[in-house]
Amino acid sequence: MTFESLGLIPELLQAVAARQYQTPTAVQAAAIPAVLTGEDVMALAQTGSGKTAAFALPLLQRMQQRMQQAVEEGNKARKVSVLVLVPTRELSGQVGQTIEALAAHLPTKLKVAVIHGGAAINPQMMHLRGGADIVISTPGRLLDLLDNNALSLKDVATLVLDEADRLLDLGFADEIKRILEQLPAKRQNLFFSATFSPAVKKLALALLHEPRRIAI
Ligand code: AMP
Repeated sequence: MTFESLGLIPELLQAVAARQYQTPTAVQAAAIPAVLTGEDVMALAQTGSGKTAAFALPLLQRMQQRMQQAVEEGNKARKVSVLVLVPTRELSGQVGQTIEALAAHLPTKLKVAVIHGGAAINPQMMHLRGGADIVISTPGRLLDLLDNNALSLKDVATLVLDEADRLLDLGFADEIKRILEQLPAKRQNLFFSATFSPAVKKLALALLHEPRRIAI
C-alpha cells in the first residue's frame, strides 16, 4: 500500500514525503479513500495510529477542490468550512500543527485557527476577525466565541469529532449539542474515537448518516 494509490493530489503527497511518512498506517489506508467519497465516517482509532493525517489529508483535498471552485466563481470570502472539535488544548495544538504542515504545498494558502480555553479570548477573537478556513477548537471556548459572534459556522462542510470518547469523558456532551445546532444540516461528519462505549455509540448514531465504519 502506498499514499500514491490512495488517490491524493501531488501537493499532499509532497507534504507526506516531507514528513517522511513512507507507508500509510492501517487507519489511513482505510479512512483516506472513505473520507474522499464525501460520506460520513466512523473510525475506531487510538492515539498514535496516525489518525490525524487519516482525516486531515482527505479533508484538505476536498477543501482544496471547493476553494478552487469558489475562486473560479469569483467568491473569495473566507468562511469556516472545516470544524475539528478536540477535547484538550494540547490536542488542538497538535492537530493544528499537523494540518498546517500537510497543507503547506497546496496552491491556495489556508488559514487555520487553533482555539482553546485556558488562554485569553481577545487574541483568538482578533485572529478570527480576518476569517478562517479551518477551525480546530475545544467545545467550551468555541461556544464563548460563537456567543460573541466572533465566527459563524453556517458554511461548515465538514465536521470532525476527534477523540470523541474523551470529549464525552470530559463532560462536553451539552456543548457539542449546542455547537451542532449551529451547523448546516447538510455536511460531512467524521467521527474518531479510541473506544466505543454506549455513550459514544449514542453520540455517533445521533450525528452520523449511514457512516462508513472503520475498525482497525
Ligand atoms: P496521531 O495518531 O495522528 O497522533 O499520529 C501519531 C504519530 O505518527 C505522529 O507523530 C505522526 O506524525 C506519525 N505518523 C502519522 N502517519 C504516519 C505514517 N504514515 N508513517 C509514519 N509516521 C506517521
